[in-house]
Amino acid sequence: MKNIAKKIVVCALAFTLLGTGTAVTKTITPDFDTAITASAACNHNMPRPKYGEWKKIGNGYGWYYKARREIKWYCNSCGKYLYTSYETKMMKYGDDLIAV
Ligand SMILES: [Zn+2]
Repeated sequence: MKNIAKKIVVCALAFTLLGTGTAVTKTITPDFDTAITASAACNHNMPRPKYGEWKKIGNGYGWYYKARREIKWYCNSCGKYLYTSYETKMMKYGDDLIAV
């Protein structure tokens, strides 16, 4: 949480500097300039899943059937969509999920 708060502060600072133009940019030190560039670029290293609905994709034995759901992954820092993966499980009618 501490890191996230720090990132938000640096981002806000970067936007402020962008908005004020070149006069301010020239007065800041080179080290400070580099720090802002590195923090402002998100490397999407905190994927956050958004689960879709379970959908039946095939029959199993007895009361079981095969189901699949889509998982869309978003960056937890900037919210950018990253990729989609799928999860498959055997499910039982009228019962809880049972892992394959
Ligand atoms: Zn990101």
